[in-house]
Amino acid sequence: MKSPYSLKNLPPDDPPAGVICPGLWTMQVRYWRLHTPRPGTKRCQECKGTAAWPCHSWLCYDGLLGDAVEASRRREAASSTNEPAEAYGLAALARA
Ligand SMILES: [Zn+2]
Repeated sequence: MKSPYSLKNLPPDDPPAGVICPGLWTMQVRYWRLHTPRPGTKRCQECKGTAAWPCHSWLCYDGLLGDAVEASRRREAASSTNEPAEAYGLAALARA
């Protein structure tokens, strides 16, 4: 899932409330930023100018951040309804 972040709206260093693995968030943000375009170009700075931006790595990390944001939203919503399984998309199991 695409993240809500962009070059004008960078992902925060601190994970959003409800992120399941905060340490993983920190690493994903670091690599997301490493794979941003070299200033003044449309080439990834980490991929040494060989890859047009967005490069494959940036797309992967952006997707991981998007998934983390979505899971944190579900987890926060589930905690308010006391249904922890909702956080993991296991609503059917929670009702079984
Ligand atoms: Zn790259």
